[in-house]
Amino acid sequence: MGMKTTQTTGCAAVHVIGGGLAGSEAAWQLARRGVPVILCEMRPVRSTAAHRGGGLAELVCSNSFRSDDAEANAVGLLHEEMRRAGSLILSAADATRVPAGSALAVDREAFSARVEAALAAEPLVTIRRGEVAGLPPPEWDSVIIATGPLTAPPFAEAMRALTGEDALAFFDAIAPVVYRDSIDFAKAWYQSRYDKGGGRDYINCPLSREQYEAFIAVLLSAEAMEFKDWEKDTPYFEGCLPIEVMAVRGPETLAHGPMKPVGLTNPHAPDRRPYAVVQLRQDNALGTLYNIVGFQTKLRHGEQVRVFRMIPGLEEAEFARLGGLHRNTFVNSPSLLDATLRLKARPALRLAGQITGCEGYVESAAIGLLAGRFAAAARHGSAPVPPPAGGRPLARSSATTPAAPRPKPSSR
Ligand SMILES: Cc1cc2nc3c(=O)[nH]c(=O)nc-3n(C[C@H](O)[C@H](O)[C@H](O)COP(=O)(O)OP(=O)(O)OC[C@H]3O[C@@H](n4cnc5c(N)ncnc54)[C@H](O)[C@@H]3O)c2cc1C
Repeated sequence: MGMKTTQTTGCAAVHVIGGGLAGSEAAWQLARRGVPVILCEMRPVRSTAAHRGGGLAELVCSNSFRSDDAEANAVGLLHEEMRRAGSLILSAADATRVPAGSALAVDREAFSARVEAALAAEPLVTIRRGEVAGLPPPEWDSVIIATGPLTAPPFAEAMRALTGEDALAFFDAIAPVVYRDSIDFAKAWYQSRYDKGGGRDYINCPLSREQYEAFIAVLLSAEAMEFKDWEKDTPYFEGCLPIEVMAVRGPETLAHGPMKPVGLTNPHAPDRRPYAVVQLRQDNALGTLYNIVGFQTKLRHGEQVRVFRMIPGLEEAEFARLGGLHRNTFVNSPSLLDATLRLKARPALRLAGQITGCEGYVESAAIGLLAGRFAAAARHGSAPVPPPAGGRPLARSSATTPAAPRPKPSSR
């Protein structure tokens, strides 16, 4: 893959490695500023442990970009900042939105297709399918590395050798998705917590105290996937603990966490408050798929079906996808990157997305937006201006704050 020039701007192409949330956004920002881009995405030639298809900007787990409330919520404010900054990810999310109360949730297939169509239609963007298996060649003089938490192992190893540091890592998990038609609405009902948002955004399954206790007992005895030796010291991401790990912390943990019954009234028994409630959130625009909120898990697949069918309303549930657990890789950005996300050891390489130590779809795309703008400014010979540290959310990235402590994954 050589350098590409265009007659439009005459400047050489920037290479973006990884067409996920960050890489797609970075490519878009570059092209919008007249800079040609070669976007290298390894899927579908080679996949990761969590991606399922070949589409750009595939959402690997939840279909939610979290709160869209720009007045009261930091992520909502970040959405608004990104919209105003011309974000492709936010415009695609807005166009493929599904009902989810005050959250911005999307139809994942339509969202990915829209991002890919926008980039494919952009004359300055060339999409190349294939793995970048080692450090980029020296003639790639401006590269954005956006290979994500599931960076292909040969590339991760090359980065480790270049930076001289072991990559940091933690475990993250995926929640199962259920076909709506297999849910028993003689027991379940539609309602958003505290009736925020539309009436059909969430499906609720009630548990009595006895049902809850029986569920916890079976959950605790169910068989989980085993860790490999090299995985054993890797911590979990606290904001996304597997449900069975939460249950080990105490029998009431789930009743006060993802299974809390507050803000909901069961129309099948309005006078009886459930002891716990399992919520499922709409996962596609057609409303045929719902994911079990907070039920990320590393139970074996057969065990998931057995345990989750104990939930009233899910006795006959058919699963479109089962949960899973994956190791995430990221680097120690405050010591390795400069203020415009360049690797100090090799400034032709910029990092973007979750590999910088941020966590979440929105944050990853936001760092991609910054990296794309930094690289475009450099191509045009102007000094990139990093956002000030502190203050507004988009500016508050541990990745770009040199004095920040060693990064840990933050909440999503
Ligand atoms: C299992 C799991 C579940 C998650 N769940 C959520 C969630 O529910 N909500 C949330 O907000 N965040 C979630 N995250 C966190 C994170 O926000 C997402 O992973 C997000 O997609 C990160 O964006 P990214 O652009 O950095 O990486 P990605 O979106 O993963 O994009 C990286 C891209 O690089 C490609 N690639 C990798 N290596 C190479 C290579 N060598 N050559 C070419 N291409 C390569 C990959 O195929 C991929 O398309 C989850 C992460 C994981 C791992």
